[in-house]
Amino acid sequence: MDDCIFCRIAKGDIPSRKVYEDSEILAFHDINPQAPVHFMLMPKKHIASLADAKSEDAGVIGRMLAMSGRLAREQGSPDGYRTIINTGRIGRQDVMHLHIHIIGGPEPLGRMLPKAAG
Ligand code: AMP
Ligand code: ZN
Repeated sequence: MDDCIFCRIAKGDIPSRKVYEDSEILAFHDINPQAPVHFMLMPKKHIASLADAKSEDAGVIGRMLAMSGRLAREQGSPDGYRTIINTGRIGRQDVMHLHIHIIGGPEPLGRMLPKAAG
């Protein structure tokens, strides 16, 4: 996928600030962080979105989630974090290559959704 920015990052054609890398997965800092810790985990294989994932992708998706706690602690989010996967038009996904946002820091984040009135 030559026109996919995250495939180009996975190949090393576009530089990124790496957090972790293995043969299947790359984790790198978000260029526009929303919190003191904000990086993303993605499969190196092009999967357009979570809605496009197949059962054969379950292994790499599970591995990304399973390593997120260790990476978040290493990056400075010692006591939890938020995982966000924006999916498709409704989920306001901007980059159509599956990625998991890991968002945190030393202090609790804002609420995920505004607290319901009443
Ligand atoms: P999403 O809306 O979930 O598709 O989020 C895409 C994210 O990718 C945004 O948070 C962007 O700041 C981030 N992003 C876009 N281009 C780059 C890049 N070259 N390096 C790192 N992060 C990027
Ligand atoms: Zn891609």
